[in-house]
Amino acid sequence: MTIDAADVTAALERVLGQVSDAGGDPDRITVVAVTKGFGPEAPIAALRAGLVELGENYAQELQDKAESVAATADLPAPSWHFIGRLQSNKVRLVADRVACWQSLDRASVVDEVAKRAPGARALIQVNAAAEDGKGGASLAEAPDLVARARDGGLDVVGLMAVGVAGDAAATESAFAATASLADDLGLPERSMGMSGDLAEAVRSGTTMIRVGTALFGPRPTRDGSRPTRPTVRD
Ligand SMILES: *Cc1c(COP(=O)(O)O)cnc(C)c1O
Repeated sequence: MTIDAADVTAALERVLGQVSDAGGDPDRITVVAVTKGFGPEAPIAALRAGLVELGENYAQELQDKAESVAATADLPAPSWHFIGRLQSNKVRLVADRVACWQSLDRASVVDEVAKRAPGARALIQVNAAAEDGKGGASLAEAPDLVARARDGGLDVVGLMAVGVAGDAAATESAFAATASLADDLGLPERSMGMSGDLAEAVRSGTTMIRVGTALFGPRPTRDGSRPTRPTVRD
């Protein structure tokens, strides 16, 4: 299965069309192309299609793809976003590759990123619907984490949230609560919306969407085959 730049360009047009249809201005929303689970052809095709903001969930995978990209001639420089569950002991591995840390959700990872990537751009991830077992600080904890990250020298620009799987109404209210807290904290960026909940995110004022399957097709399964339907979550 190959992914080429022309396919990604066409898919990006469809994504931006969905943004417009939901009342958003595509020129004011950053598209982060989420390449997790795909091979190195995904970031390479995205870069050729003009998408330079790339998202990954796992440190080793980010590292491998960053090396493949660096070894490919004539590509624009990527800006890697770390969007997955962050373990403190993995921060060091990718500290010099990551341009934006989107998934800071507790004091230990905030401190580790502040130490290993001084001054880096960061978002605090919130679990706005208070779902069990899901990453993200509570809305109540987030202001202290923002302050802690800033005290550590990080450039905190916004909040990140993941929608509630299979529940559009709960997703939209979680996004609205996230945007409202970002307003209160004076944070300009709200990273909300994936392939399956773009409209809810746009209606709640997202400034950054993180899209994978809508750009690259169904994510391959671990054995390398492609599922017929997109996988829901990692
Ligand atoms: C996988 C993932 C995405 C992209 O999901 P798609 O459904 O492929 O668009 C966005 N954000 C996070 C945090 C993810 O883990």
